[in-house]
Amino acid sequence: MGRFGSEKVRGQGIQGVRGSSDPLPLTPHPAKTALFGGTFNPIHFGHLEAAAQVRKQFALDRIYLIPSAIPPHKSPRGIADAQYRLEMTRIAVSEYPIIKDYVTVSDIELRRSGPSYTIDTVCHFKSVLPESELFFIAGLDAFLETNSWKSCMELFRKISFIVMPRAGYAGDIRETVKTYLHTCISEGYRFQDEPRSGAGYYIHSEMQPIYISSVCLPDISSTEIRRRIKAGQPVRQMMPEPVENFIKTKGLFNDI
Ligand code: ATP
Repeated sequence: MGRFGSEKVRGQGIQGVRGSSDPLPLTPHPAKTALFGGTFNPIHFGHLEAAAQVRKQFALDRIYLIPSAIPPHKSPRGIADAQYRLEMTRIAVSEYPIIKDYVTVSDIELRRSGPSYTIDTVCHFKSVLPESELFFIAGLDAFLETNSWKSCMELFRKISFIVMPRAGYAGDIRETVKTYLHTCISEGYRFQDEPRSGAGYYIHSEMQPIYISSVCLPDISSTEIRRRIKAGQPVRQMMPEPVENFIKTKGLFNDI
């Protein structure tokens, strides 16, 4: 049986409390749970579509969107208050009908002090969802920086990654990931094809698999949104309208 989409869903999923703290891990646990971390400064349709399409491709039961409180690798200049980014993420999910039943916004990183390290978040979810198969969703740009993340090797031993292409990337994502894994993580990764799903994954004797996603996502970035807002240009097709209204009301990104 293939690893994608064909596995039987064991549970009915957590009763997610949208927009609140993490739900209690009611049993049965969702079989396949993905963590999708980011700065979400601000959240946009690229993130929302990623959640929708990756969920479908990998038959995920639940996705946690996890805004970072203090992103360790980004300059604090230009980053909106974490509470605002959390709020925008909640609004966006509630306004995007195709994902709101299986996406939960987690404030776990805002409840910790200090830099928001992914390894701490992964350890948290592994302890509250011990029976779930856990994945971490990352765009290719973010994935290619994982060797600078805290406890990188431990992270790769603990959790599978789902790596998504970003629009406009002209290279071969499989090759790019392979070169990165062999150069920066370990030479022991080997590719497994998955023709039925249009994806594939890298396996390793000591690490969790690295899945390559074939999703096709809009060419939107938070950087471009911030640039447009500062320049007084429209951002209408880039995020749900209520998020845009929130940005206007709070006066975010005008001077950064
Ligand atoms: P910025 O432009 O400020 O760096 P961003 O648009 O990349 O922000 P983040 O919040 O940093 O957004 O991204 C969180 C995760 O979502 C990262 O893994 C990133 O690669 C991924 N991501 C963001 N936008 C897209 C997109 N349009 N397509 C695919 N992946 C995306």
